[in-house]
Amino acid sequence: MAKAKKWVYSFGGGKAEGKTEMKALLGGKGANLAEMTNLGLPVPAGFTISTEACRAYFEGGNKRPPGLDKEVDANLKKLEKAMKKRFGDAENPLLVSVRSGAAISMPGMMDTVLNLGLTDEVADAFAGRVGDDRFVWDAYRRLIEMFGNVVMGVDRDSFEEVLQTVKDNRGAKLDTDLDTEGLKEVVRRYKRVYREGVGEDFPQEPRRQLDHAIDAVFGSWNNERAKTYRRINDIKGLIGTAVNVQAMVFGNMGQTSGTGVAFTRDPSTGANVFYGEYLMNAQGEDVVAGIRTPQPISQLEEVDAEAYRELVDIRGRLEKHYTDMQDLEFTIEEGTLYMLQTRTGKRTAAAAVRMAVEMVEEKLIDKETALMRVEPGQLDQLLHPTFVPSALEGATAIAQGLPASPGAAVGKVVFSAADAEEWVSRGEKVILARIETSPEDIGGMNVAKGILTSRGGMTSHAAVVARGMGTCCVAGVGAIRMDYASKTFTVGEVTVSEGDEISLDGSAGKVYCGAIVTQDPELSGYFGTLMGWADETRKLGVRTNADTPHDTEVAVRFGAEGIGLTRTEHMFFEGDRIVSVRKMILAETEEDRRAALAELLPLQRGDFEGIFRAMEGRPVTIRLLDPPLHEFVPHDEAGQQKMAEALGLSVEKVKATVEGLHEMNPMLGHRGCRLGISYPEITEMQARAIIEAALNVKAAGVDVHPEIMIPLIGTLAEFTHQETVIRRVAEEVMDQRGVKIDYLVGTMIEIPRAALTADEIAERAEFFSFGTNDLTQMGCGFSRDDAGSFLGDYVELGIYEKDPFQVLDQGGVGKLVRMGVEGGRATRPDLKVGICGEHGGEPESVKFCHRVGMDYVSCSPYRVPIARLAAAQAVIEEKAAAGAAKPGAAGKKKAKKAKKAKKAKKAKKARKKG
Ligand code: PEP
Ligand code: MG
Repeated sequence: MAKAKKWVYSFGGGKAEGKTEMKALLGGKGANLAEMTNLGLPVPAGFTISTEACRAYFEGGNKRPPGLDKEVDANLKKLEKAMKKRFGDAENPLLVSVRSGAAISMPGMMDTVLNLGLTDEVADAFAGRVGDDRFVWDAYRRLIEMFGNVVMGVDRDSFEEVLQTVKDNRGAKLDTDLDTEGLKEVVRRYKRVYREGVGEDFPQEPRRQLDHAIDAVFGSWNNERAKTYRRINDIKGLIGTAVNVQAMVFGNMGQTSGTGVAFTRDPSTGANVFYGEYLMNAQGEDVVAGIRTPQPISQLEEVDAEAYRELVDIRGRLEKHYTDMQDLEFTIEEGTLYMLQTRTGKRTAAAAVRMAVEMVEEKLIDKETALMRVEPGQLDQLLHPTFVPSALEGATAIAQGLPASPGAAVGKVVFSAADAEEWVSRGEKVILARIETSPEDIGGMNVAKGILTSRGGMTSHAAVVARGMGTCCVAGVGAIRMDYASKTFTVGEVTVSEGDEISLDGSAGKVYCGAIVTQDPELSGYFGTLMGWADETRKLGVRTNADTPHDTEVAVRFGAEGIGLTRTEHMFFEGDRIVSVRKMILAETEEDRRAALAELLPLQRGDFEGIFRAMEGRPVTIRLLDPPLHEFVPHDEAGQQKMAEALGLSVEKVKATVEGLHEMNPMLGHRGCRLGISYPEITEMQARAIIEAALNVKAAGVDVHPEIMIPLIGTLAEFTHQETVIRRVAEEVMDQRGVKIDYLVGTMIEIPRAALTADEIAERAEFFSFGTNDLTQMGCGFSRDDAGSFLGDYVELGIYEKDPFQVLDQGGVGKLVRMGVEGGRATRPDLKVGICGEHGGEPESVKFCHRVGMDYVSCSPYRVPIARLAAAQAVIEEKAAAGAAKPGAAGKKKAKKAKKAKKAKKAKKARKKG
C-alpha cells in the first residue's frame, strides 16, 4: 500500500520537522518558524499544515483531505505536551494563533486569528486563575471579532459599532479604558452580532473553532483579493497556502510584556543599524494600528535589558544565517522573549544597493549574490528626483494615468509648447499639458519639468521622448478633459487653469494639485561600486538612444558605451530648422527639394559632430529619416497661416499639401526607408552630413565609428536601394577629402517580414538593430499610438500577461527576434546585433536579449544603469541554470560513493577468487 501523505509538520522545543528549503511545502512563514526553531531560537511551539493539504482541499471539493484531521489531533497533543497546557481546558488552557502563509508573502490572503481555544467556560475559569481577568475578556472579545470577521465573514463594522457604543456608554475614550465589566459586556454583545451575522452561536468547542479556521485559511487562497494580488505581482506556480497553528504568547500581560517589529538593518537607508519599534503591554496589531505610539527599539534596553540583549544577539544570528536583512516580529511575555516571525525584509532601492555592497565588504555574501539582490527596475528610484516622503503624506491624487517616464515634477501648467518656452524664458517652471504631443512640441517638452497627456500609451510620442530626455511624464490620463481654448483642464469637479501649480509622479502615474516638495537623486558611492561589479560580469554591451550632445553626455555619465539609436528627425524641430524641413516637404521639383536640403545639411552635420565628439570614439548608430512627413506640418488653421507666411506661399497651397500627406494608417504608410526611396536626395543629404561630420571630428583627433541605419526595411531590395545611395555619397565625400574612415551600413529589423527574411537581408546589412516598438506594433497588430485605450483591459483579463510595448512579448514578438538573429548570423556569423526599441531598457527584455545572443541593448539615458544591472543578472542566472542542469554536489557525492562501493565489491570478489 502506498504510504499515506504527510500533511502536518511540527516545530517546538528546539526541534522542527521543516526547514527554510521547504518553503514551497510549508510556506515562507512555516519554513522560517521551523528554521528558527532548529537554530535554537525561542519560538512558541506549533505546527504547519502544508500547501499540499491546501491543494488537496480544493481538489476534494473544499474538504479537508483524508488523514488531515487525525494528524492535527496528534500535533495538538504534541503541542499540549510542549506547552504543558491543554486545548479547551478550563484551568490551564492552551490558546493558539492561526495564520496563512504561502511560499511568497501575499498580503491579500487571510488575516491572523488570535486566541483560538477560548470559550465561555474557558474564559470564566481562566479569568479566575490568572488574576488579571481584564486581560482574558479582552482576549475573548478579540477572538470573537477576528473569528467572526476573518473566518465567518461578518462585517467588521458591526463589531466596531458595538465596541464604540459600549465605550460611549461607559465614558471610555480608548479600548484600553474599558474595565473587566465593560469587556464582558462587549463579549455579550459581540456574540449577538456573531449570531445575527452567521446564523448560529459562536462555537463553544475549541476543536471546531480550529477546523473552521483551517478551512478559512485554505479558502482565502482563492479569494478575490488573493487572486488579484497574485496577478498584479505576477506570482505563479504556487499550489496553495500553508496554515500555521502556534501556541499563543501574550505581549499584553502587563508592563513586563510587550511586542514589536524590527529590521536587522535600516530598510530605508540600508545602514547597518538595528531598526524597529515596540510597545509594552500590547498585542501585535496595536503596534501597527497607530493608536498608541510605539517606541524605538533602542529604548527597550532601558525597559528590559536582558530581552534587548537577547534580541540583538538574535538579530546578528539571523542575519548571518540568512545572509540577508531580516524583518522580525517578537513578543515578550512576562519577561520572556519569543520570536514569532522572520523573513527577508522589503527595502528601498537606496537601501538595497547599500546593503548589497556592505554585505560583500563584510564577507557575508559574494559579488554575484549582491548583484542579484537589487531589482534593476528599482534603480529608477535612484536616478530621478522624487517627492520628499513627508511632503507626500496627506496629498491625494486627482487623477491616475500611465507612469510613462519616472521621477517627480512640480510646475505651473501651460497648454502649448510655445507657451512652455515663453514661460520658462521668464524663469518659471512649467508642466506641459497636452491631449497628446507631436514632434512639433519638442522645444516645449525640452524645457518643461514634466509632461502630462490625456491620450496615448507607454510608447506614445510623449512617453518615448520624455523617457529619452529623462523628463517626468504621466501619459494617457483618460479622466482629464483638456480645453486648449480656455487654457484649462478638468478632472471630475476639479478645474486646473493655466498658471496653476500641479505635481506629477511619473513613477506612479499620479497627478496632484499644488506643489509637493521634491528631492534630487543622490548617486552615492555604493551605487558606483555595484555598477562596477555589474560591468565586470555582463556580456551584453549597453548603448543609449540619444538625439543631442546633451543627452549623449548624460548617457555616458550613466555608463553608455555607444549610441544605439539617434533619431535624426528630432533635430528637425530645433530652432527654425522646421522652416527648411517644410520647404523640403512642399517642394514640387527635385531641384527645389535639393535647395531646401542644402539648408539642412550644415545643421545636421553640426549635430552629428557634437554627438561624435561627446562619444569620444564610441560607436554611434544614426538612423535616417523615419516618421511620416505629415508629422512635420501644422494641422491647425493658425499654424498653416504662419507656415504659408514663412514660406511665401498661399494658405491654400499649404492646406492642400497637408491634406495630401494625410494617411489612414500613417504608421504603416509613407515613412522609413519608403521616404528615402521616393526622395533619394533626403538619404543623400543625411549620408553626406554623417560622413562629413565624421571626417571633421576625426581631423580634430577624435576617433569616430559611424553606423548608418536604414529604418523600416521589409525586403533586401529596399535595403540595397538605400545602401547604394549611402555608399555612393560616402565614397564621393571621402574621395573629395582624400581620407577614409570605417563606417557600417545596417538596418532596423522592425517589420515582421524583415525578421522572416533576415538571412537575405544580412547578405548586405552589416548590422541589425531590432526596433521592437514597431515590431510589436506589427507583430501583434496593435497600433502603438492607440492601443493604450484597451491594453490595460487586456492585461487585467490576462489576455496578454504584460503590456507588450513595455515588456517584450517573448512568446510572440520574441520569436520574430530570435528568428531574425539566427537568420542574420546564419548568413553573416559576425553580424553585429542589438535592440533599440523601448524594451532595450526593460530588465526582463534585456535578459531575453542576452539569451538570444545579441551584442548590445540600447535604451534611453536614464535606463542605462538598469540595463547594465539586468545584463549582469542575465549572466548570473544563466550560470545558475547551467549549474542546476549538471549533477549537483549531492548527486556527485552519491555517484562517488556508489563507485567506491563497486570497487570494494570487485576487490572482495578478486580476493575471494585469489
Ligand atoms: C522601434 O520601432 O522600435 C524604434 C526604435 O523606432 P521608433 O520608435 O522611432 O519607431
Ligand atoms: Mg520604428
